[in-house]
Amino acid sequence: MNLRRKLGLDILSEKYAYGEDPQYGHTSEQKIPDRWVPTTCGYCSVGCGMFIGVKGGRAVTVRGNPNHPVNLGKLCPKGLSEHYTLEAPNRAKQPLLRKNGKLVTVSWDDALDTMVEKFQTTQDRYGPDALGVISTGQLVTEEFYTLGKLTQLGFGTKNYDGNTTLCMASAVSGYKRSFGSDGPPGAYEDLQKADVIFLIGANIADNHPILCQHLVANPRKTLIVADPRVTKTAMMADLFLPLKPRSDIALLNGLIHLLIRTGQIDCEYIADHTSGFADLARFVEKYTPKYVAEITGLSEDLIIRTADLYGNAQAAFIGWTMGVNHSTQGAETVNAINNLALITGNIGRAGASPFSITGQCNAMGTREAGFASSLPGYRKFENAEDREQLAHLWKIDPDRIPISRGLAYPDIVEAAVGKKIRAIWIIATNPIVSFPNLDVLKQGLETLDFLVVQDGYHPTPTTEIAHLVLPAAIWGEKEGTYTNSERRVSKVNRAVTPPGDAKSDFDIFLALADRLGCREELFPGWTRPEHAFEEWKRVSKGRLCDYSGLSYSLIEEHNGIQWPFPEGTTEVGTTRLYADGRFPTEDGKARLFCIEWTPFPEQPNQQFPFVLNTGRTVEHWHTRTKTAQVPILERMSPNAWLEMNTRDAQALRLKPHDCVDVISRRGRVRNVELRVTEIVAPGQVFMPFHFAETNANQVTQSAFDPISREPNYKQCAVSVQLSVSANERRGKDTRRKKALSVEVSS
Ligand code: SF4
Repeated sequence: MNLRRKLGLDILSEKYAYGEDPQYGHTSEQKIPDRWVPTTCGYCSVGCGMFIGVKGGRAVTVRGNPNHPVNLGKLCPKGLSEHYTLEAPNRAKQPLLRKNGKLVTVSWDDALDTMVEKFQTTQDRYGPDALGVISTGQLVTEEFYTLGKLTQLGFGTKNYDGNTTLCMASAVSGYKRSFGSDGPPGAYEDLQKADVIFLIGANIADNHPILCQHLVANPRKTLIVADPRVTKTAMMADLFLPLKPRSDIALLNGLIHLLIRTGQIDCEYIADHTSGFADLARFVEKYTPKYVAEITGLSEDLIIRTADLYGNAQAAFIGWTMGVNHSTQGAETVNAINNLALITGNIGRAGASPFSITGQCNAMGTREAGFASSLPGYRKFENAEDREQLAHLWKIDPDRIPISRGLAYPDIVEAAVGKKIRAIWIIATNPIVSFPNLDVLKQGLETLDFLVVQDGYHPTPTTEIAHLVLPAAIWGEKEGTYTNSERRVSKVNRAVTPPGDAKSDFDIFLALADRLGCREELFPGWTRPEHAFEEWKRVSKGRLCDYSGLSYSLIEEHNGIQWPFPEGTTEVGTTRLYADGRFPTEDGKARLFCIEWTPFPEQPNQQFPFVLNTGRTVEHWHTRTKTAQVPILERMSPNAWLEMNTRDAQALRLKPHDCVDVISRRGRVRNVELRVTEIVAPGQVFMPFHFAETNANQVTQSAFDPISREPNYKQCAVSVQLSVSANERRGKDTRRKKALSVEVSS
């Protein structure tokens, strides 16, 4: 602080001046923009419409779009402060290449020439699949489409996956198994049209906050929430089911058992549109209320009431997120959910849907257009006709398209540990914080011949170990489309220029294609994302995710449009999949599966007596690469914490605000602040996973769903030990405060 400021002669009048904004009225002069740029939020899959306020070439504010059907002008704390992510001090600005152990600035030409040369040398020596690519859910769909072609046809590796496998691969696999294709059947409007809303393992109040306004707008609904933890969403429920961790399959089977027994099923729908009912009915006979009560810890009465509410609903909606997906039985749990919806005919109608609420802003885009678990347009690798169609559209030999999917994300990591994969390209994700059982991942990445990390931020724990860092533009700096959880395609626009030499991911992909000599073949005449969008429209034509009737201008005019939107469609409105009861399976019917409940893999014992649950908090996003740079969010939630039930804390003689270590067979998280609370049940503890400094993934396990390959982040056995008591911390804080006050006064 300078002397004038200290003496009160400088009151920072420029900084604190007010002005009149036509939108806001009396507001900070600094936040009155020269122009508003319409776009879509770049955090979560709710897909809120917003405007970025630009003044003098800088993003100075954001506001919700009052005409956007998803959010009607509202934004959550992350959305409301999103412009701060653009000018964060840790934005990556120049390409950096590791020389003599240090990352040094190089030109784009040097960076990309080196990358192509290193990747090609690795592939020549160890085979094309020695290269792995791990992408994200944060790019625009046009970039996913371009990246998929570049990876599989340009670099020629099929080992390509996204961090979306860490979050919603189970929903994808579950949908494919039940319905023959990925694609959430319902719409957000269903939250307002359903008379029963059943949320399983979905804490939307923290993770998808704006969806709560759709709940609130439906006064007729009965809200049932099943969760081991009394989340903020559970606090909104009419009926809360505090089930034991990972007992949801037993609950779902128990509900099916009761609905069949009481005849509260839709026999006509079952006969006309499903297969496998007789087997399912026999299978769930053993899931009596008594048996289900033993497994779930719920009372028989609560289970019967839930079945009754669901069975009597005119339109019932089931929503789920990571409580279901993050599991070794994630895909099967989705099948059990789909079973419940199908036997009651709760699909394809207003208010009625089994609905996966997905994670990142454009996780859906990579599902539709990417090449990870499917070929673009939900085509199947193993289907010759699908491959031939694509080859024809792309004017290439069908033999160049892989006949099976490559390695999924955890298997790419395992292959790196086993030295089968020798080079990896990571795009817009931070696995050194987000991957389970981190030591295994570190072992894999640190021994690679070449690691490229392309990101909007540096340093991050992952860019720090890279051989090459490519600085990328982020939300607000590039153009394209995102698809949200309800299949709504919304426009994303560039408001400001990226910092330093950072380039859009799209431009980086095209520059690499130039060097590989495949640009004209794979991306003929492309210079901007709209060129990719136009080709994607042709590729998606006739598929479930048909974009052929969309255009950038139409999407902007309507503030987002749901697919399918085939060429010639004239009316824009809510769409639902499977409204005619026909599914893209061999016989046109949805499949019912017999799903057995099994206990989760790592049960607590005397040495590790607690079940650790992990999750999110409203202030933060993934690994905090962005949100730690947003002062208001970071101040609201600066540290990780561990929730423990009062009874357990008393038994361990722990007090609120003590710092504890959380220990599993694999590692230890040090110095986590304790919250003693009834939010978690005895025997369980909860910790958010956003924090690199106190990283829950030091203790999580390498256990993956055999179908979807999604990690079982949710339950692992841990012990908890005191590291620094609250009293000691207070002492330290007092000493620190004294030291600070000495510093200030001197
Ligand atoms: S709910 Fe999701 S999309 Fe909407 S403002 Fe918040 S983070 Fe953005």
